[in-house]
Formats: sequence, structure tokens, C-alpha cells
Amino acid sequence: MKYISEFRRQDLAKLLAQTIAQTVDPKHHYRLMEFCGGHTHAIFRYGVQDLMPSNVEFIHGPGCPVCVLPIGRIDNAIQLVERHDVILCTYADLMRVPATGRTNLLKAKAAGGDIRMVYSTQDVLKIARDNPHRQVVFFAIGFETTTPASAVAIKVAQAEGLTNFSVFCNHVLTPSAMQAILDAPEPVAIDAFLGPSHVSSVIGSKPYETFADHYAKPIVIAGFEPLDVMQSALMLIRQINEGRHEVENEYSRAVTRDGNLKAQGLVNEVFERRPQFEWRGLGLIPNSALKLKAEYAAFDAERRFEMPAIQASEVKGCECPAILRGAKKPKDCKLLGTVCTPENPMGSCMVSSEGACAAYWSYGRLRENN
Ligand code: SF4
Repeated sequence: MKYISEFRRQDLAKLLAQTIAQTVDPKHHYRLMEFCGGHTHAIFRYGVQDLMPSNVEFIHGPGCPVCVLPIGRIDNAIQLVERHDVILCTYADLMRVPATGRTNLLKAKAAGGDIRMVYSTQDVLKIARDNPHRQVVFFAIGFETTTPASAVAIKVAQAEGLTNFSVFCNHVLTPSAMQAILDAPEPVAIDAFLGPSHVSSVIGSKPYETFADHYAKPIVIAGFEPLDVMQSALMLIRQINEGRHEVENEYSRAVTRDGNLKAQGLVNEVFERRPQFEWRGLGLIPNSALKLKAEYAAFDAERRFEMPAIQASEVKGCECPAILRGAKKPKDCKLLGTVCTPENPMGSCMVSSEGACAAYWSYGRLRENN
């Protein structure tokens, strides 16, 4: 625990807050997008926003894989259970994300669907081994952090000759989303990015260099502890003041420039890029997601089962899409804390443990200014 407590020291937080207050240019409004939902939660859980001068604004980004999954893909998963009688395995966060018609995976399970919550891909493989006469599908989601585990599961299934295991692949790529935000027809005003931490431990800091160069946006790869976030904000503010736009690495205890080459190799062996993929809030983004390579087609649920593309509409009044591209904040949603609560979520941003609306709710920030 000492390792964590060192990154939560109040005396250092006060010192950093003073340094930031002395460093900001009062004439400049600093708009820092924290890409990861984990950063959003750290900011609110530890009151980091309260320690910032009023001209430093955190803009919440799309870095929550549950939140950016389009509703149609959840509809697809429910259809897999209802029409093909598969055992569907997925992580708990996905269970209550609203699908079309106010249903969700939990309700489909209550209605008799064989849907199981798992903690790891190893759990899914065990379920497949234990049920040789049933088809077992892993509803895989996540950024680059969780993709290597899916790749390993597919390789293990191949090595074991498991013929009843497949993956419904929804793995998405972080740099593509960053590019979509910057290339949007009406881009949100962002001065700089707090770069993802867990994702960067896999892909390294190198993929972000193009954004710093081409779009002139400073990026600091930031850890998840409060002092990490504050130190990263200070590094970004210094870059902005000095007119620099570089990739800096505050999270050097876990992230290198090249990342985890072994994990990258595994992912490249099993997966390839889709030409395009729909992101909730950001629409269709080219080269932004992965699918299984032809060599692993036997483990691809989208090839094994009929899975039509489903265009689903959002719950009326839910602002998740605008929140996910940084155009709005949870406080802009009229449903926040009234109709929409963690017990009765209307959108993915309230369900997911990394969602921005869940952060506002959990830490009592429902109607604040920033
Ligand atoms: S508060 Fe609920 S309805 Fe509103 S944007 Fe967030 S998740 Fe969607």
C-alpha cells in the first residue's frame, strides 16, 4: 500500500496545487481532455478539480470501452443468446448497459438466457471445456489493455482444439479515437491531452507522437493516482505556456516509448484492423477496431453465427454521445440524478465503472460548474 499512498500525499498535493496556481497564465483558459474514464474518476474522487485554478478545465473524453460500445452491438449479443442459444460470457460492466427496448443483458439473463459474468478469459475457456455440447461466446470489449488476453484465449483454444469457443470481438483502438476527436467537423476546443495510462503500458507512448506533431497538441501520459493527474496537468500547462507540443511521459513507472512488444506481437498475430467501426458518440471511425484474422476464423463469432449490423437509437434525452466526444458534460444532461441513476441507468456513461456520469454521481458532483 505504501506504493499507492505515496501518490496520494496531501502535503505534495498542496505543493503541486500551489505550483500550478503560480504557473497558469490568468489570461489563458486551459482545456485539458483526460482521455481515460479512470482519470475522470481520479479527478472527482480525490477532488483534483477543486485544487485547480478556475481557468484549468478538465474535459472528459471517450476512454471508457463500455461507454463507447454502440447499442447495436449489445442487441447483437442478446440475439446470440435468444436465437442461437449460446452461453454468452462477459464482464460485469456490460450487464446493465441499456440495449434497444429498455432491455439489457441482465434482463435477458433473467428471462432465461444463459449469460455468465466472468473475471477473465480463462473463466470463459473453462466454461467452454466444461460444456462441450454448447457453443460458448466471449463478448469481448476493451481498448488495447484487454486485447492481449483475448488473443491468448484464442491461441489456447486453438492449441486445445476447442471447437465450441468463439469471440464476439469489440476491441477498439485508442489513437484512432483521438484522431476522430481532432478531425471532427466541429471539433471540441481542446488544448492538450492527458494520455491513457493502462493502454500506453501496452502500446507505448510512441503512437501519440503523430498527434503532438501533426495537430500541435501537447500530450502527457498520466498515471491514475491524484498526484499523477496533478503532475501531468502541470506538465501540460508548462507545455502550453511555452508553446511546445510534445509527448511527455509522467507514468514512467509503467510506460515506455515502445510499450509491451510481446503483447503487441500476440495481438498482431491474431487480430487485424477493421476498415471501420462505429463508436458511440463518435460515429464510424476508420481503422479503429480489430477483428480476427482469417487464420482464426473458426473462433470468430461473427463468422460462426448470423450477426446483422443493427442501427439502434439512443434513449431520448440521454447525452452520452455528446459527453463521449467532450462536447457536453454530465451536468448538461437533464436526466442525471433524476431519471438516470446507477440503479436505473439510462445510458452507458452511468453504468460503467469508468463512466463520466457515474463519476459525477459517485462523488456528489451532480450540478457543479466544471
Ligand atoms: S446521466 Fe444518464 S441519461 Fe444522462 S448522459 Fe449520463 S448516462 Fe446518459
